[in-house]
Amino acid sequence: MRIIENIAEMRRISDTWRAEGERIAFVPTMGYLHEGHLSLLRAARELGTRSVISIFVNPTQFAPTEDFASYPRDLRKDLDLCAQTGIDAAFVPTAEEMYPEGFQTFIEVTRVTQNLCGASRPIFFRGVATVVTKLFNAVKPHSALFGQKDFQQLVTIRRMVKDLNMDIEIVGHPIIREKDGLAMSSRNTYLRADERPVALRLSRSLQLARQLVNSGERNAAAILAAVSDSITAGGGATIDYARLCDTETIEDVEVVDGPTLLALAVWVGKTRLIDNCVLES
Ligand code: AMP
Repeated sequence: MRIIENIAEMRRISDTWRAEGERIAFVPTMGYLHEGHLSLLRAARELGTRSVISIFVNPTQFAPTEDFASYPRDLRKDLDLCAQTGIDAAFVPTAEEMYPEGFQTFIEVTRVTQNLCGASRPIFFRGVATVVTKLFNAVKPHSALFGQKDFQQLVTIRRMVKDLNMDIEIVGHPIIREKDGLAMSSRNTYLRADERPVALRLSRSLQLARQLVNSGERNAAAILAAVSDSITAGGGATIDYARLCDTETIEDVEVVDGPTLLALAVWVGKTRLIDNCVLES
C-alpha cells in the first residue's frame, strides 16, 4: 500500500492509474478507523480496480468550540488496518498541504445543509464540501463512497457533485453497528462505561419509531414525541435534534408518507452522537 502525503504525488499516481485504464474508488475519512470505515474500504475494493482512502482531520469543519484538537488520532494503527484490507493507497496530507497560507475559497451547498447538523453546526458542511472537493481534485476518483451514518453529508455531497458537474459516482453505504446496536463512530471512544447504556437509546429509539410506523402511526409529532421520551427517560442524554425529514430535501415533514429520514443528534455527557434510519411507510 502506498502512503502519500502530498497532493502533487497523489495526482501523479492517479493520473498513471487512469492512463492505464484503472477505475479509482475513494473513501474519505478522518481516521481512527473502525469496522464502519473498513466496510467502506472493502466495498471500494469491489467497486474499483484501485482503491484509495484519505485520512485527514479537517480543521475547516470544526467550530472553535468543537473537538478538533481532541479528535482521536492513531495514524500508525489506521495504516496497518488499511494495509490489511488490501487497498492500494492512503492519502494522508498535512493541514499545511491542504490549507496553505492564503487559502480563501469555500464550497457552499445552501439548502440541504440548513436543517439537522447544519443548524447545530453552521460552518460544518461548508468545511465538508470544501475538503471533499479538494480531496476529489487530489485523488481524481471515478467513484467515492460515503456512509449513511452521516446521511445529510451524503445528500450534501450528492447535491454538490450534481450541481458542479463533477464526474464522480457517489455511492452510499449502510450504517455499520456494534452488536448491541450502537452505530460505530470514532467518537464512541469518548464514551465512559456508564454512558454506553445511555448511548444505546439512540438505536433503540429508531427501532421504536419503526414499530410505531409499522403499526400505522403516520403523525411526525407523535413519533418524535415517543422517540424523544425514550431517549431522555432515565436522564444522562440531551437531545440536540430529533427530526423527521424528506430524504432528498432534508426538510421537516409533518406526516410520514413514503420513505422518511428519522435523524438524531444527542449529547451523552460530552459526546455528541448521531444516528438515523429511513422509515418506510
Ligand atoms: P469519518 O471518519 O467519521 O469522517 O467517516 C468517514 C466515512 O465513514 C463517512 O462517509 C462516514 O459516513 C462513514 N462512516 C462512519 N461511521 C460509519 C458507520 N458506523 N457505518 C457506515 N459508515 C460510517
